[in-house]
Amino acid sequence: MARPRRKDRTEPDGRQLKITLGDLRSTGVRDLIVFCQDYRCSHIIKLPAAYVDQWPDGIRISQLEPQFVCISCGMRGSNIVAGSNSTEKAILPRPVN
Ligand SMILES: [Zn+2]
Repeated sequence: MARPRRKDRTEPDGRQLKITLGDLRSTGVRDLIVFCQDYRCSHIIKLPAAYVDQWPDGIRISQLEPQFVCISCGMRGSNIVAGSNSTEKAILPRPVN
């Protein structure tokens, strides 16, 4: 049986594990990618490490998500994922050369 992927870890009661910025930083991830809560909008923005660094290690991703307001559609709330290289290759447009 395949081992569960790291991002799928959950609390014993089944809730999604509350990941903090400190947890992310300990894995070498310092960028975040923020998705608009509204799937019809699907606005995406990358927060560079220099911006994310303003927040302390103890802040949970789930605490940050409700604080974003989409600059495209105005909806409050977001989904945030770690901005690792593999994530970016999967979801972000490739740079134009
Ligand atoms: Zn939006």
